[in-house]
Amino acid sequence: MHYDHLIIGGGIAGMSAAQAIRVRDGHCSIAVFGNEPHPVYSRVLLPHVVRGRVGEGKTYLGTQPEFAARHITYLPGRTVLSVDPALHAVHLDDGTEVGYGKLLIATGGRVRALQVPGIENVDVRYFQTLDDARVLRDLPGMGNPAGSGAPAVVIGGGFIAVELAMAFVERGMPTSVVLRGDGMFGNLLGPAGRDRVEAVMAAKGVRIIKHAEVREVVGGPHAQALVLSNGEQLPFAELGVGIGLELNVEFLAQSGITLSRGVLVDERLHSSMPDVYAAGDVAEMVDARVGQRRIVGNWQNAMFQGRVAGDLMAGGEGVFDAVTTYSITCFGLPITFVGAVEVTGDGITRESRQSGEAFLQFVLKDGRVVSASCVGPFADRAKVVEMVKAGAPLI
Ligand SMILES: Cc1cc2nc3c(=O)[nH]c(=O)nc-3n(C[C@H](O)[C@H](O)[C@H](O)COP(=O)(O)OP(=O)(O)OC[C@H]3O[C@@H](n4cnc5c(N)ncnc54)[C@H](O)[C@@H]3O)c2cc1C
Repeated sequence: MHYDHLIIGGGIAGMSAAQAIRVRDGHCSIAVFGNEPHPVYSRVLLPHVVRGRVGEGKTYLGTQPEFAARHITYLPGRTVLSVDPALHAVHLDDGTEVGYGKLLIATGGRVRALQVPGIENVDVRYFQTLDDARVLRDLPGMGNPAGSGAPAVVIGGGFIAVELAMAFVERGMPTSVVLRGDGMFGNLLGPAGRDRVEAVMAAKGVRIIKHAEVREVVGGPHAQALVLSNGEQLPFAELGVGIGLELNVEFLAQSGITLSRGVLVDERLHSSMPDVYAAGDVAEMVDARVGQRRIVGNWQNAMFQGRVAGDLMAGGEGVFDAVTTYSITCFGLPITFVGAVEVTGDGITRESRQSGEAFLQFVLKDGRVVSASCVGPFADRAKVVEMVKAGAPLI
């Protein structure tokens, strides 16, 4: 078997690349290998599946007949075990060797597991895949605010922790969130914005326990509790964990492709090996605006990088230089991130502003805006994106 273009990973980055290749080249062969057993689906719609607002079918991004009509071979349930750039070949879990002309690594990440003594006795709820969404959706009590009164605990302070907390609260479970740092979303939000987020969560009965870590899980199958670093014992009936992603790069360990946390790529999304590209959550590249390597875990970034990588693989010209944005809602409160909100370091400062009901934080590098976050309605979103693109000063 040989394909002109082989894509590992059937997420939005991989599928966007496949489409972009086909747009530029109507005749080449394209295959996408994805190790999940499902049709290609949208992760950003999974929270709506958990809430029962959309059925699984609505999350699908394309069907086999649609891919076939574009002569794109999509093979679900196939894991690539290794890549040999010298041979221009990959090896699958069934022993097959498949050759490629150009290769895209778009393998994203998997949840980082909570590793503490006793955790092996717990059915931990993670939230990354359609299978995880099914489990959360099928928890009893949806739409019953009186609920069972059974306590839930969520570990983590980011957007997945918020999604898990909402899933538990919507099932009438008194919920606690345990996080290491000073508050929800760490320094990604300004102090006033973070207070607003935490107030909205508190109004829904969520208790936020800061500066704490889990030491161990104690108890039997019917009465379990977390022992926290502050000495508190926290009983739970449901435990959700949202503490970030491990990127899927281990299968590249012997390939010679330069890896850091992710696959290192240049502004053309090209790796250190000839004809090998990477895009999406798994790609790690220097953001010229901040002069730092970044891994970006949002939908728009994965889609745009996939498109650019696909176009370049098929002979296009250009570089990836987008400023991407990402929005979620926390119990109805919108939160938006623009650009490199997580960066710290030399020349980086943070400045907070309030505009009506919106709490904004700008991240500046040597006085120029490199990113922003907003809690509340973001009327100036387009303007702020332009400021970040231009590296404008904050006036
Ligand atoms: C619940 C949830 C909600 C989200 N909500 C938002 C949101 O509102 N806004 C936003 O911007 N972002 C959101 N995100 C993040 C966004 O979905 C991701 O950034 C994006 O989906 C990443 O796409 P990707 O194609 O890079 O990787 P993925 O979607 O992770 O796809 C990679 C695929 O490759 C497969 N794979 C891995 N290794 C192999 C291998 N060796 N062989 C074959 N296949 C392999 C993986 O199993 C996976 O199917 C959300 C994420 C989650 C989990």
